[in-house]
Amino acid sequence: MNVPVAPHRRALPILSPEKIRGLKPALADVIEYRKSGLSLNWIVGCPLECGYCVRHLFDNFEMKVPRRLMSDGEAVARLTGHSYFRAHTTPIQLLNRATDPMLPIVKPHVYEVLRKLDERGLTNHVLIITRWRVGPEDCAVLNSFTHLRLTVLVTHSNIANPAIEPVDSHIAAESLRTLHAHAERYRTVLYWRPIVPGLNDSDADIERARELSQHAHATVFTGLFFREEIASYYEAHDLPMPYEETARRKIMPEAAEQRILDAFGQGDSWGALFRKTSCGVAYAHGEADYNGHFGVPELCDICPSEQIARCRAAWVKPELSTVTQEARALGATGEVQVNDRAIVVEGLDEPPRYFLQHGFGYQCHDRAKPHHYRQHGRAPIGWKAENGTTNA
Ligand code: SF4
Repeated sequence: MNVPVAPHRRALPILSPEKIRGLKPALADVIEYRKSGLSLNWIVGCPLECGYCVRHLFDNFEMKVPRRLMSDGEAVARLTGHSYFRAHTTPIQLLNRATDPMLPIVKPHVYEVLRKLDERGLTNHVLIITRWRVGPEDCAVLNSFTHLRLTVLVTHSNIANPAIEPVDSHIAAESLRTLHAHAERYRTVLYWRPIVPGLNDSDADIERARELSQHAHATVFTGLFFREEIASYYEAHDLPMPYEETARRKIMPEAAEQRILDAFGQGDSWGALFRKTSCGVAYAHGEADYNGHFGVPELCDICPSEQIARCRAAWVKPELSTVTQEARALGATGEVQVNDRAIVVEGLDEPPRYFLQHGFGYQCHDRAKPHHYRQHGRAPIGWKAENGTTNA
C-alpha cells in the first residue's frame, strides 16, 4: 500500500532504560485499558501546558520534550500481543494521556503505528485525540488507511484563561474544520470539554460549540477530571478552583448539562450531540455504541432516532452462564449478575471490566461502585442525591 507520509523528520529519541525506570510505573506501562479503548502510550512528554492535563497524575507535567519509550514497531507488537487485545473488536486509543499525537515531532510516529496496524488488515476502531494543528496534508495521510475505523477527536474548550488553557481554542476549531472538510475514510468528532460551570459555559461558549458541531460527524460534551494532583497544581499556580472537592470520575454538574441540553433543544442547527465518547465515535461511523450504553436508556434521550434504532438492534443481553465463565476466568469473585442495564461483577478492576464490556457490547459495572440514575457514571458533585440534597 502506498501511504503518503509527513515530511521526514528526525525520529524521536528513545529514553534509556535508566530514565524509563525513573518514571512512575503507571507511565512506564505503555498499555492502559480505558473505557473508550485499549490505550497505547509509547511517547511521553508535551510542551502544551493545559492546567487540567492528566499528566499531573503521572508526575510528568514538567517533561516538555516528547520522548519514546520504545520503537513504533515494538509498540504495535505490545498492543496487538496484549492479553486483552482482540483483532477487529477492541477499540484502540493512541497517545491519549501523556502527549498530543498531532505535535509535529510526534505525528510521524503516530502515522507509522497506524500504518503498521492497517497493514495487518485490522478493522478496530482507533481514536486519536488532539487539540493541535491538523492540515490538509495530515488529512491525506489519515484518509489513506484502508481497514482501520479511525476517528480524530478534536478537544475544544473555549476556556479563555491562558493559565488553564494555554493553547488558543481557535487552533482546535480550525483543525476540526479542516478534518471535516477533507474526511473520506476517517471521521472527526468535536470533543467539547472540559466544561466547567462559570468558566466556559456562557451563552457565547454554547453558541460557539453549536456552530462547530456543524463541522463534525458528531459532538461529545463532557466535564472535568479534577483529581487531587490537578487541584494541587491549581492551588500552587493560584488558578481559580473549579470545585471545592476532587472526584474519581469526571465532574459534569446537572445544571451545566441542562443549560447545554436546553440550547440543543432549541433548534435543529446542531450536529448530533452525545454524552459519551464511544456513542459519538460509533455514530460517526454509522454503528451501534460499542460500550453498550443503550442499557442506560436515559443516556439516549438526545440521540438521533436512526442511531437509537442501530443500538437497539445490536444490544443483546448476554447469557449469564457465558458471562460468568468469562468473568471467573478474569478473576471475578462473588456473584455475577446480568441485569437489564449491565453486567455486575465483584473483584475485577477496570481493565477486565472493559474487556467484558467491549466483548459483549454490554455495560459492565463494579458492584462496589454503582452508577447512579442520570449521573451517567460521573461524579456526584453538582447532582441531587436521592434524598433530595445537592452535592456541592
Ligand atoms: S442510542 Fe444510546 S447507546 Fe446508542 S449511541 Fe445513542 S446514546 Fe449511545
